[in-house]
Amino acid sequence: MASRCLVTGVAGFIGSHLAERLLAEGYEVIGVDCFTDYYPRPVKERNLSALRNSDRFRFVEADLRFADLEPLLEGVDHVFHLAAQAGVRASWGENFAVYTEHNILATQRLLEAVSRVSRSSRSSRGSAKSARSVDKFIYASSSSVYGDTPNLPMREDSLPRPISPYGVTKLAGEHLCQLYHYNFGVPTVSLRYFTVYGPRQRPDMAFHRFIRAILEGKPIVVYGDGEQTRDFTFVADAVEATVLAMKCEATGVAFNIGGGSRVTINRAIELLEEIIGRRAVVEYREPQHGDVRHTLADTSAAREVLGFAPKVSLEEGLRAQVAWQISLGIKSPG
Ligand code: NAD
Repeated sequence: MASRCLVTGVAGFIGSHLAERLLAEGYEVIGVDCFTDYYPRPVKERNLSALRNSDRFRFVEADLRFADLEPLLEGVDHVFHLAAQAGVRASWGENFAVYTEHNILATQRLLEAVSRVSRSSRSSRGSAKSARSVDKFIYASSSSVYGDTPNLPMREDSLPRPISPYGVTKLAGEHLCQLYHYNFGVPTVSLRYFTVYGPRQRPDMAFHRFIRAILEGKPIVVYGDGEQTRDFTFVADAVEATVLAMKCEATGVAFNIGGGSRVTINRAIELLEEIIGRRAVVEYREPQHGDVRHTLADTSAAREVLGFAPKVSLEEGLRAQVAWQISLGIKSPG
């Protein structure tokens, strides 16, 4: 019988790619999503369209904050918890409640359900009960847990000090994974993804906005002087790391997942101009609260323990994202 995976946030950017990869490897996938309104439902439905063609895929529309989660875990071997309210800039003010609910409360409820299922499985060993414990619980964390550290590259053993409310909620999720691992033996692994990009990237993310603006002949808005850097990770590389984390022996740990393509925002815009063949009009605005100046992942732990080696260069990855955005039918001004 094929191993069964639960992917939360399956209608999102990374979750939909991950689920496709798991199906391609022969797994059964139960995908959960509640279609939060952060970006439009039709975009998320489009992300799901290829998955829905597989008879090894089952979609459950459910909100992790309220749903009865134990039935979803029936027969599940691996849990991939990607559901979250993403985005640094929207996490201030009253919106913080949305972040605490989707990122902290939902994570705690899922971990609680996994630990209950595992405990009932342990106490019923030898009986005919079908419940079994989960082999791995992978949590999608973020480079935003590090904050504005002067110590680059960012290492997993440094003290995380997020500077955005979003980063605080992602770090809280990591701590919850750690304490359910410590107290109940839930086999958690946290993956700190560094700026993921590629086809299906969320419409609020920088590359998506930049590519759309260049294609439409509209100005690009850059917050800050554009000399800030990011360690960009192509989505297939992030997915590869996630699958490797499922297969590894390690538990109760966090790994940096960075693509090794660190450039300034200004350089990334130049690359997009070359790929699209059109000059960008850039409007520089005040830096936004919560945005860090630089990110750079030390990925030695992921390389050694997971065997992770990112394969896709920034140029190659951006070409794939540009091609995808063109395929969405964005009208160019001529
Ligand atoms: P996304 O917004 O495209 O996907 C998240 C999905 O989760 C959405 O479809 C949303 O509807 C769903 N969701 C949210 N709350 C839910 C709930 N309570 N119940 C059920 N479904 C819920 O985001 P993404 O960019 O694919 O990010 C996936 C994960 O990776 C997130 O946890 C995010 O914090 C993390 N991450 C992403 C990046 C990145 O660069 N994209 C970087 C670091 C970390």
